[in-house]
Amino acid sequence: MPVVVNLNGQIRPPAEACLSVLDRGFLYGDSVYETVRVYAGRAFMLEEHLSRLKRSADPIGIPMPLTSAAMAREVERAVAASREPEAAVRLIVTRGEGSINPAPEAGLKPNLVVIVRPFERLPEAAYHEGVAAIVVKTQRNAPRALDPNIKSGNFLNNILAAREAAAAGAYEGLMLSAEGLLAEGTTSNVFVVSGGQLATPDERVGLLRGITRELLLELGGRIGLPIAVRDVQEAELRAADEVFVTSTLKEVLPVTRLDGRRVGDGLAGPLTRRLYEAFREVVAAFVSGAGAGAGAGAGEETTG
Ligand code: PMP
Repeated sequence: MPVVVNLNGQIRPPAEACLSVLDRGFLYGDSVYETVRVYAGRAFMLEEHLSRLKRSADPIGIPMPLTSAAMAREVERAVAASREPEAAVRLIVTRGEGSINPAPEAGLKPNLVVIVRPFERLPEAAYHEGVAAIVVKTQRNAPRALDPNIKSGNFLNNILAAREAAAAGAYEGLMLSAEGLLAEGTTSNVFVVSGGQLATPDERVGLLRGITRELLLELGGRIGLPIAVRDVQEAELRAADEVFVTSTLKEVLPVTRLDGRRVGDGLAGPLTRRLYEAFREVVAAFVSGAGAGAGAGAGEETTG
């Protein structure tokens, strides 16, 4: 099946999965969401995604419609119904249907939407040759304006940056903070290698603590490639020997052209490759059923 939706527990094709136009997710982007990768029919790091969903929802007062375990089961039902071994899941909780007024009234009923679509990862060559990125003019939201750690459906900041990147023919747009520090990509976290040392921006700058980022911080320590979490100036980014971005769908993706200039020798650098391989080993272990990161679905085979 191409795309399957689980809307409040009902499995439907997308055209039949309908919410009211008065849903605040539609009216205001008043919702939180997660993107989860399905490898070999199972949701990868689902438990971590469900925890982050709750961490996004708590500070803005959107209640979770179900417990994490019940939510995991709804994701797994949709994944099983799709019969897609390689898929991307979008898990959304909206604040629910209300009147047209920014201040949410009390007692709204949140809606749970799970969308499963087939997903084809980038060709292997992209992980050797890398992609092009630009530094965009759109600044990342300041944490005190709209904290990027709240992964909300209010995505215009990222959309504006993504439009800039697309207009420049770049695969990803890298965003700076108001102070000019590197923050993150439109849908990714950013890592640099300078002087043989790995670094990624600190979340105080304003970025989403990506699940892939967290995994790499751990893997880096484990394989003897510690990654410093610290401020990265724009000049350091531009002079870096290696740059790569991470996300659930991009995995560990080298950036080999930045604003039209070559990064390093124009191919994935050695530290990027080692972290990419370490990440792929975690996925391989997960697929073979031996690995960590099975999340709430551990042990349940849902391959359809
Ligand atoms: N930053 C932003 C703005 C994102 O949208 C994403 C993608 N979810 C990421 C970072 C990477 O996060 P993750 O590794 O959890 O996919």
